[in-house]
Amino acid sequence: MITGASSGIGAGVAKALSAAGAKVVINYSSNPEKAEKILAEIKAAGGDGMAIKADVSNEQEVLDMFAQTLKKYGTLDILVNNAGLQKDAKFHNMTLAEWNHVIGINLTGQFLCSREAIKEFMRRGIVPERSKSAGKIICMSSVHEVIPWAGHANYSASKGGVMMLMKSIAQEYAPLKIRVNSIGPGAIRTPINHGAWQTPEAYNQLLKLIPAKRIGEVEDIGGAAVWLASDDSEYVNGITLFVDGGMLLYPGFEDNG
Ligand code: NAD
Repeated sequence: MITGASSGIGAGVAKALSAAGAKVVINYSSNPEKAEKILAEIKAAGGDGMAIKADVSNEQEVLDMFAQTLKKYGTLDILVNNAGLQKDAKFHNMTLAEWNHVIGINLTGQFLCSREAIKEFMRRGIVPERSKSAGKIICMSSVHEVIPWAGHANYSASKGGVMMLMKSIAQEYAPLKIRVNSIGPGAIRTPINHGAWQTPEAYNQLLKLIPAKRIGEVEDIGGAAVWLASDDSEYVNGITLFVDGGMLLYPGFEDNG
């Protein structure tokens, strides 16, 4: 199950997991046409799955999504908590609605979906022919779980929260062989940040923050998700795998140390 999978990173991760053999649940919140298009592309490439509408910040809709998933497939092996958004504002102007909206989807949404996934992983336990783990959760965090972000206090607070949510669940359920990790993308070319790459001026400005001197693509995240979901990473638990072209390497020091 990949939340927010009708666009951007979620769609890329769904395609990568499908190519690696998973049946995929494409969760979306508002646009069925986009979700069905991604599902059609996955089926055309030989994959299988279904699209389910649910707002991840709504408890009942999350419960219904899991019920539909279990009814169709019998169980769930991998949850990718990807749905997220930004509502940017100068901090002194930020409304409670802007704060609650971002925390509700980016953080509470990950709590609600993770809780239901953990219940199912505990019920089912390990199926040795499928995986050495009883289940895997991958949380889509951000470099902003560690890099402060002026003008985006709600977003960076949500991702800092995701980091401790992820680590706390990883610690709690490691004895049951349930693995919980995050991916921390840097700048990835998706609709969420089109302002940062759509003009050459904005793109060149962005590259100053990226030692690798290119923006990331959703395929960069897809590969990391497949690895974290596979038994190749069986001994990896409670980490954030940053996929950021070196954005966390203090790029301001590149020629000014
Ligand atoms: P995106 O806008 O293309 O994707 C976000 C998806 O979440 C959309 O499909 C949207 O419909 C969905 N969504 C929003 N609210 C929802 C809700 N209430 N319930 C279910 N789905 C909902 O942007 P993206 O860049 O693909 O973002 C995906 C994730 O990656 C987010 O968590 C984002 O914070 C994170 N991220 C992105 C970048 C980047 O550079 N693109 C960097 C770091 C982290």
